[in-house]
Amino acid sequence: MDISHLLTPHSQQMESSLVRELLHYSQQSDILSLAGGLPDEAVMPAYPALNLLNDSRQYGASEGEGSLRKSIVSILAERGLVSSADNILVTNGSQQGLDLISRLILDSDSTILTEQPTYLAACQVFKLQGAHVQDVVSDEQGMCITALREAIDKYQPKAVYLIPNFQNPAGHCYSLERRKQIAALLDEKDILLIEDDPYRDLCYENVDLTPITTLIKSAPWLYMGSFSKVLWPGLRVGYTVSCGAFTPHLTKIKQAADLHTNRLGQNMIEYFLESGQYPEHVKKLRVVYKEKCDRMTGALNKYLNGVVEFTPPTGGMFFWVKLPEGVSSMLVLDEALKEKILVLPGVPFFPCKNPLEDSYLRLSFARVSPAEIDRAISILSSVIRRLMP
Ligand code: PMP
Repeated sequence: MDISHLLTPHSQQMESSLVRELLHYSQQSDILSLAGGLPDEAVMPAYPALNLLNDSRQYGASEGEGSLRKSIVSILAERGLVSSADNILVTNGSQQGLDLISRLILDSDSTILTEQPTYLAACQVFKLQGAHVQDVVSDEQGMCITALREAIDKYQPKAVYLIPNFQNPAGHCYSLERRKQIAALLDEKDILLIEDDPYRDLCYENVDLTPITTLIKSAPWLYMGSFSKVLWPGLRVGYTVSCGAFTPHLTKIKQAADLHTNRLGQNMIEYFLESGQYPEHVKKLRVVYKEKCDRMTGALNKYLNGVVEFTPPTGGMFFWVKLPEGVSSMLVLDEALKEKILVLPGVPFFPCKNPLEDSYLRLSFARVSPAEIDRAISILSSVIRRLMP
C-alpha cells in the first residue's frame, strides 16, 4: 500500500537510526557487541517492591510524580543547580525531553547548533521538526568557542545543544574554562542552551562537571537528566528542568504527546532513591565501569598502537576511535560482523556532511566483560589491519 501521500516531507526524509538497526545483532548470543550505549545488566539493581505495581495503576500527573520531582530537586542541588519541583518535567527518558523541546522551539525556519560529532538520536528529532542542524567544530574540551561565536553570528540559531560530560559519541568532557566561556557567550548573545547530561554519574577521574546551566546568568536554558545510564533504561524515566518560562509550554506538549510518563517506572526510581542506596550504587558503577574503561585503553594500546588514534575518556561509556587513513568505518562494520564483533561506525553522528565522517568508530565498553574487551579489540585489530591500504 502506498501511503507516501499521507506523510509529511520531514517524515519521508527521516533516516532510521543505525544504532537501533544494529541492536538486533547485539541480541544474538554469539555476537560480541561494542556497538550500543547499553549499560551492564550485571550492575543494575533488581527491581524493588512489587507492591509498587498496585500504587501505579491510575492515570497520573503530566508533570510526573510529585515525590520523584522532589527527589530530582535534591539530585540537582548536589550538582549546584537550584530548581523547584514546579520546573521539573518527568519524561519517558531524556529522549522524550529532546522531542518535547524540539516540538516547542524548532520548525523549518530554525537552526540548532550541535557539537561535531553529536548524539545521533538528537539530530533525528531536530530534523523531524524540519530544523537545520548545524554542527560546530569541537575538540577534546567540547565545542570551540571561536567557531561557536562565528556560527551564532552566521546562523542566528534558536538554540545550542551540548552534551558537556562524557559526550556521546566523542567522550569529551568540557574544562571549567570552556564551560565558563560558553555560558558567557550564550549570555552575551542571549541564545538558548539545551544541556543534555545523562552520563555525568559515570565519572572515573577527578574532572569538573559543573553544569553550564549553573554558569548562565541571563540566557534561557533547559537541562536534561536521565536514570537510564545509572539505573534501568528499560523503565524510560528522564527529566527536563527549565528556567521557569518554558515549564507551562513543555507541560502542555507533554499532555498532548502521551498524557504522562508511566507511573510504575517513576515509582520504582523514587523507591530506589528514597531507600538511600543510590550513592553506594553509583560508587559501585564507577568501579565496575572504570575497570572496563582501563581495559579498553589497554587493549587498544596493545593491539592497535600507532594504527588508530583515541583519547581515553574520563567517564561515560564510549571510546571515539579514529581509523587509519583510507579505512572506512562502514567496511570495518561489515568485516568485523563476519567475525561476530559488532562495532558502530561514526557516520550517523555527523549531522552535516564531513570528509572525516567515515573515519571513526564508537566503541562501548559498558556491557562487555574485561576479557571480552580484550578479545574483541584483538579481532578488530586484525580486521582494521587487513583493510589498511
Ligand atoms: N542523550 C544522550 C546524549 C544519550 O546518549 C542518550 C541515550 N543514548 C539519551 C539522551 C537518551 O537517553 P534516555 O532516553 O534513555 O534517557
